[in-house]
Amino acid sequence: MSKADYYEVLGVSRDASDQELKSAYRKLALQHHPDRNPGDHAAEEKFKEASEAYQVLSDADKRAAYDRYGHAGISGGGPGGFGGFSGAVDLGDIFGDLFGEMFNVGGGQQRSARQHRGDDLRFDLAIDFEEAIFGTEKEIKIRRLEACETCKGSGSASGRGPSVCPQCHGRGQIRYQQGFFSVARTCSTCSGRGSIISDPCQTCRGETRLTKEIKLTVKVPPGVEEGTRIRYTGEGDVGRGGAQSGDLYVVLAIRKHDFFEREGQNLHCVIPISFPQAALGADIEIAGVDGPVMLKIPEGTQSGKELRLRGKGVPYLNEKGRGDLIVRVVVQIPKKLTRAQRELITELSNSMSVENKPTSPGLLDKMKDLFS
Ligand SMILES: [Zn+2]
Ligand SMILES: [Zn+2]
Repeated sequence: MSKADYYEVLGVSRDASDQELKSAYRKLALQHHPDRNPGDHAAEEKFKEASEAYQVLSDADKRAAYDRYGHAGISGGGPGGFGGFSGAVDLGDIFGDLFGEMFNVGGGQQRSARQHRGDDLRFDLAIDFEEAIFGTEKEIKIRRLEACETCKGSGSASGRGPSVCPQCHGRGQIRYQQGFFSVARTCSTCSGRGSIISDPCQTCRGETRLTKEIKLTVKVPPGVEEGTRIRYTGEGDVGRGGAQSGDLYVVLAIRKHDFFEREGQNLHCVIPISFPQAALGADIEIAGVDGPVMLKIPEGTQSGKELRLRGKGVPYLNEKGRGDLIVRVVVQIPKKLTRAQRELITELSNSMSVENKPTSPGLLDKMKDLFS
């Protein structure tokens, strides 16, 4: 199961301020605190989840890493990474001025400011298996909304910009009385924006922004995984009327490899070896993901045995070191023999004694169960 998004856990937007994070966490922590919900396992899980999310997002460095690379970006963010949440988050600080602020969260002002922010964009980038392991740089082309150059993003031909809507006087809503109730509807003159442009720019027709194709260089660090999300702050659509731009998320898809399979930071491959190599042992050179590596086959190696080459796997994203290369050796039985080889194997066979009896008593028992 994939981990929940930290921002979603806290119920805040991606550009939430430290204060918003703190407020959101405080609210959740109060609601789900184990002391208030004795024996409620679900509440305890929620409390832990929120604490972990807050612990990461309240730390500027960790938050930046998380924003760029998701859970993979938090070192040790895998299983057991955040085993102990207690102590790391200063609860005294969190609960101290609780009642002063708890009722101030999410005012209307914040919401309307966010409405004008440009949209976030997503770009799916396919990269090669090796590029994911060792990192790469890619130039991408994206289409996004940019501020209109003719009117400098003001939307008006004169450059004066928008003026207050005369219909709703800037409120964006018209209130009217219906029976006993006061009802509000969106102002049709300004489409709820509260402002109108009386002399629209010819180029953008008053929209303040136009779609443009731009080029960007994406830096893919070594060790990224399938689905890793790289965030470029402010590289999304520009907001209407020059408001804050959204973000660009580059989501990575990794192409398959003919030879290697990846499992986290470990690589797997299958290597055929000969019966003599398996029986006598051998040092063989195999193709690693970044050049040849020596593999030591111990004497008496059985077919299907997995041999581990430490540090020959995928680099860790945010720390030193690499995973392992795990080689499964498969003993090849020759299909064609020369006369001389046949004689040698016959001689070998005569010198060996193997009792050809089943080695898994479990199988017989299972059949007995089936028929009894
Ligand atoms: Zn314009
Ligand atoms: Zn209006």
